[in-house]
Amino acid sequence: MEESDHTLGLISSFEAVSQGAPGNRTFHLKAISQRGTATIRVEKEQLNSLIMAFERIFRLIDDQADHHSSNKQSYSDSEVAYKNNNLDLDFKSGNMSLKYDEISSAIELIVFGEVQEDNQSPLLTLLLSQKIAEDFVEAGLEVYGAGRSKCPLCDTLLNPNENHICPRSNGHATALN
Ligand SMILES: [Zn+2]
Repeated sequence: MEESDHTLGLISSFEAVSQGAPGNRTFHLKAISQRGTATIRVEKEQLNSLIMAFERIFRLIDDQADHHSSNKQSYSDSEVAYKNNNLDLDFKSGNMSLKYDEISSAIELIVFGEVQEDNQSPLLTLLLSQKIAEDFVEAGLEVYGAGRSKCPLCDTLLNPNENHICPRSNGHATALN
């Protein structure tokens, strides 16, 4: 893991939350682990960038899974020595980045503070299982509400420039508006 001021370790819950009236919404990410909680305030575009970064990581994971069919080891809480230090963070995020750790099959989210100086360590790191990350992306897209529509057959969120090949239509590409 990256050296950081704080780490939540493997988190049990991660979600995007929006508050306020439409057109004037604010966004934050809420992360919970045995070590505590973090509220990471983000701009709408940062939320979108994070979701897209997760989607890139998922494709990377899929590619790697195709190449080696090794028996995957995943983190479990019992393997990680936790000290419950009751973290309770609330801050405005600067840069965020993602790293996939193949050995633990976990995705590390690295969050810098809003004011970032040279060589500054991240303010917070946390680890997400792929399942929690996927749930975050799915729910986060709805929170972001980027106007992406869902496929009426399989509920997949459609990208504007992507030809969706729907599994519910026997793999044939279907023109959907
Ligand atoms: Zn579909």
